[in-house]
Amino acid sequence: KNQPPSLAALARHARASFAGNEFIVYEDDRVSYEGWFRAVAALAHRLQQQGVGKGDRVAIAMRNLPEWPVAFFAITSIGAIAVPLNAWWQAQELRYGLDNAGARLLICDGERYQRIAPLRDALPDLAAIWVARAKAPLEEAEALEALIGAPGDYADLPDQDLPAVEIEPDDEATLFYTSGTTGAPKGALGTHRSALTGSLANAFSTHRSCLRRGEEPPPSRPRIALTVIPLFHVTACNASLMSTMMTGSKLVMMRKWDAVEAMALIEREKVTVTGGVPTIAWQLIEHPDRPKYDLSSLESVAYGGAPAAPELVRLIDSDMHVSPSSGWGMTETSATVTTHAGEDYVHRPDSCGPALPVSDIRIMALDGAREMPVGEVGELWAFGSQVVKGYWRNPEATAATFFDGWVRTGDLARVDAEGFCYIVDRAKDIVIRGGENIYCIEVENCLYAHPAVTDAALIGLPHRTLGEIPAAIVHLAPGQEASEAVLQAWVRARLAPFKVPERIHVCPTPLPRNANGKIIKAELRAFFDG
Ligand code: ATP
Ligand code: MG
Repeated sequence: KNQPPSLAALARHARASFAGNEFIVYEDDRVSYEGWFRAVAALAHRLQQQGVGKGDRVAIAMRNLPEWPVAFFAITSIGAIAVPLNAWWQAQELRYGLDNAGARLLICDGERYQRIAPLRDALPDLAAIWVARAKAPLEEAEALEALIGAPGDYADLPDQDLPAVEIEPDDEATLFYTSGTTGAPKGALGTHRSALTGSLANAFSTHRSCLRRGEEPPPSRPRIALTVIPLFHVTACNASLMSTMMTGSKLVMMRKWDAVEAMALIEREKVTVTGGVPTIAWQLIEHPDRPKYDLSSLESVAYGGAPAAPELVRLIDSDMHVSPSSGWGMTETSATVTTHAGEDYVHRPDSCGPALPVSDIRIMALDGAREMPVGEVGELWAFGSQVVKGYWRNPEATAATFFDGWVRTGDLARVDAEGFCYIVDRAKDIVIRGGENIYCIEVENCLYAHPAVTDAALIGLPHRTLGEIPAAIVHLAPGQEASEAVLQAWVRARLAPFKVPERIHVCPTPLPRNANGKIIKAELRAFFDG
């Protein structure tokens, strides 16, 4: 019987089509599509018995464990709203998320439980906590294993369907929080339709990019993805987890990013695609032990979510000999809106690609009054059925950001005559020096091209007469040296004089990043205090 598109339909489809395939590999656990589905069904029925129904929020707070995709689909398949919380959050931040979402139930791991348990009284809406892999005895909480068993036992659970719940494509399904790069994280309220569109976009993007250029698509070896970014970010959930389910392929998960462990997993599991964010790609490329591992199964290193230096694209192509792939998107667009891969990307390494066939992009004047001519910089607006409904419990921000299927992204970009999009900066990040706009990404990319630099960020420092002046913070590769003067000369040789950072701080440690691999610029100003 036909079912309207929903995450429940996706779960049923994945099981019906790929039952015996391995779905999730995590440490010693190997979970098949069949086993995963049985666990989802068992947990979904249990959630219903608990009184969870349509529109109720159920939070997930755990590292990347096999239990994460079980919880996510159990919640969404009964029409409740999954609220993936950032596992890096400390007690008060987790409390903010649970409270903001009005979560009725929390499914978490042992580590998160330790943080939340003492705050229980401050969360009156929270009726129950189910804990996976608890390390200590539980008080007023239940072990997830007591409800559905451990991942190794999922295949032995009863064979049953998901509960029968009528779900429409525009029903609310997910509440993902933005990364909090420019302020407090905002809850983006996604629907079944937006989640499915965001995932579908990604499942076929590499293929499409080859076809468009008249090239042979890559030989269709089974796709095996190593997911290293946290599932609580929409990119990992949609572009990695759900696009895996659409193609019946395999997802190798790591609880926590570690370059050496990742290389060992790529070798052992014959991983074909990995990445996530540009930093991770850099760490793989530059790792001194890389030659010790057989990474020949890799076909693509894919990332997005933050600017990637053209130098990175060149290294992935010519040094790792795999296809670089990237895209632009935001939590508000359920991951991807533009994608870029292979030869196209190597030829235009500073672009994030064209809009997907199911999306549209526009470059608008900052006041929103008119569209900019081809090639000129303005605010990027994005359109598509992957755009979420709005911000959770924030009507003002919703009204200012979303209308008629469009989202005003707050990113500055230009689009060339062939439709390729180039992100130049976040509108909030731009440094204006005496009236001249300096796009941080351009200066950062110039610094990244210096052989010693592995991390670079440009910020504006207040200045009495110029308003702002550009200042950079860099981190160098082990054993490399480069002074402020040398780096300034490097930029001066390549960019207009007003863009040369007036101060460059060489930081002995890598720059502070949030869980999505983005540099937290607000913390960088401290390097120049005093
Ligand atoms: P917050 O909205 O809470 O300040 P955030 O914008 O970092 O945080 P996300 O939704 O995770 O939260 O990230 C979306 C943003 O990431 C985009 O608006 C853009 O600034 C940046 N981004 C995503 N992809 C790219 C890309 N390919 N190149 C440059 N920047 C990108
Ligand atoms: Mg944002």
